[in-house]
Amino acid sequence: MSLGAVLAVSLVAVLAVSLGAGLAVPLRVVSGRDLGTSAVGPIGRAAPIGRVGSANRRRVTATAHPRFPVLVWSLTAARSAARGRRGRRWPSNSVLRIHPMQDVLVAGGGVIGLSIAWKAAASGMKVVLCDPSPGRGATWAAAGMLAPVTEAHIGEEAIVAMNLAAADRWPSFAAELETATGQSVGYRQCGTVVVAVDASDMAVIDRILAFHATLGLASRRLTASQCRELVPLLAPGVRGGASAPADHQVDNRLLAAALEKAVVAHGVDVVPACVSEICVSETGGRSGAAKRARATGVRLADGRTIDAGAVVVATGCWTPKLSGLPEGILPPVRPVKGHVLRLRGSASEPLIDRNVRCMVHGSYVYLVPRADGTIVVGATVEEMGYDTRIQAGAVYRLLRDAQSAVPGIVELELAESYAGLRPGSFDNGPYVGWTHLERLAVATGHYRNGILLGPVTADAVCGLLGGESLPDFLEPFRADRRVEAL
Ligand SMILES: Cc1cc2nc3c(=O)[nH]c(=O)nc-3n(C[C@H](O)[C@H](O)[C@H](O)COP(=O)(O)OP(=O)(O)OC[C@H]3O[C@@H](n4cnc5c(N)ncnc54)[C@H](O)[C@@H]3O)c2cc1C
Repeated sequence: MSLGAVLAVSLVAVLAVSLGAGLAVPLRVVSGRDLGTSAVGPIGRAAPIGRVGSANRRRVTATAHPRFPVLVWSLTAARSAARGRRGRRWPSNSVLRIHPMQDVLVAGGGVIGLSIAWKAAASGMKVVLCDPSPGRGATWAAAGMLAPVTEAHIGEEAIVAMNLAAADRWPSFAAELETATGQSVGYRQCGTVVVAVDASDMAVIDRILAFHATLGLASRRLTASQCRELVPLLAPGVRGGASAPADHQVDNRLLAAALEKAVVAHGVDVVPACVSEICVSETGGRSGAAKRARATGVRLADGRTIDAGAVVVATGCWTPKLSGLPEGILPPVRPVKGHVLRLRGSASEPLIDRNVRCMVHGSYVYLVPRADGTIVVGATVEEMGYDTRIQAGAVYRLLRDAQSAVPGIVELELAESYAGLRPGSFDNGPYVGWTHLERLAVATGHYRNGILLGPVTADAVCGLLGGESLPDFLEPFRADRRVEAL
């Protein structure tokens, strides 16, 4: 860059500062057209992160000034430009600052955070993801059922609508991820059978089927012999059940592995560290204007900070442990413990070839068969705080109930007992979207369906970062909706 250009850039930057622009949203600058008229996003608190093609990857820190319809380079950018060294970091005001400015920082690398990071990076954003153990939270524990119908509960119509949309997205999402990584995610369109062990269990299934009918869900009643046609090794006493042919599964651990590979392949900077605090700065406040607080990045547990244009919190049930924010900004998710077992069976002679969900004298248990012969048996639902001890009683009850429906499981090797923590919310729906703090988005609280909801959550959050609104089916689950104590 010529000296004249550098001076011009610096002049504009100084002008911006004098007009009170202060620090503002860092954008990957492409052209004025990319900014359009949406320097303030559709819900009035967010400027979009520019989506750029590979030809436009030159990165500067820029300031979208509310009174100028143009981008103004910050002093930092002008200094970098003057030095003519693209990508080299200007000495920051903190020796502990470890990364150059990112477009998006994702805190948490479960299925939700990994999916968001992958999709954001694939759309051209510069992304950093922080997690000390990606893929090892609830995502690791899950059974991987994609079950909008058999997870449909009376009174949760909005959740059912969201789950149906999520299930529709799965085939293309699995294909995209497998193409991007060359790895299978174990997506199986196997369908689900629900079975009742006694007459009162069957009465419950009948009530649920009546609810399904009101919503037009794809399920139908089965006699005991029809159940046995689909699941030949069912216990003799099974009274009947239902078929949910559109409820499928994915291998959540293969999924996590593929997502980890995809984020790396798309240039996401994966930082194996815990976020302890969301960094916030206040801007404006001159000439009588109200001060506005915005998220500017995070502080890690070891004290280092990372700056970012937007922060997405996807820390599952650990979200309330993040500090640095006023009360009420982060949603009140809580851990809901689930024990789950993995039984090692034969791939060539599987006991079952579809998901089997059982009502056993009023208790629920499910069996999810993987292609390699493993059967996942789950899951308890327990309010035990952050306790993840494996309790003998829980393992006993899962095996006892699973055996009541499919007796042959007792011959299999008990390969693993595990307990994970679902991120639960007060209404069982997730929190997705911008919070009341500028540039801070949240994607958590996915409770029992986070594997199912990963793809649509990632699409939605990337849409928000690009200046779009939430899709209709996620509107009831906005992150800034009424927050209630649990
Ligand atoms: C037993 C069980 C069975 C389930 N079965 C199913 C199922 O069949 N189908 C389905 O759809 N869903 C199922 N779920 C629910 C599903 O697993 C969750 O909803 C989903 O995994 C939530 O994803 P997440 O990314 O929000 O959270 P998590 O997977 O818990 O990921 C959160 C991540 O955040 C990281 N983290 C936490 N704190 C910090 C921090 N301060 N800084 C950085 N990183 C941090 C953690 O290390 C973790 O990797 C099940 C859950 C359980 C427990």
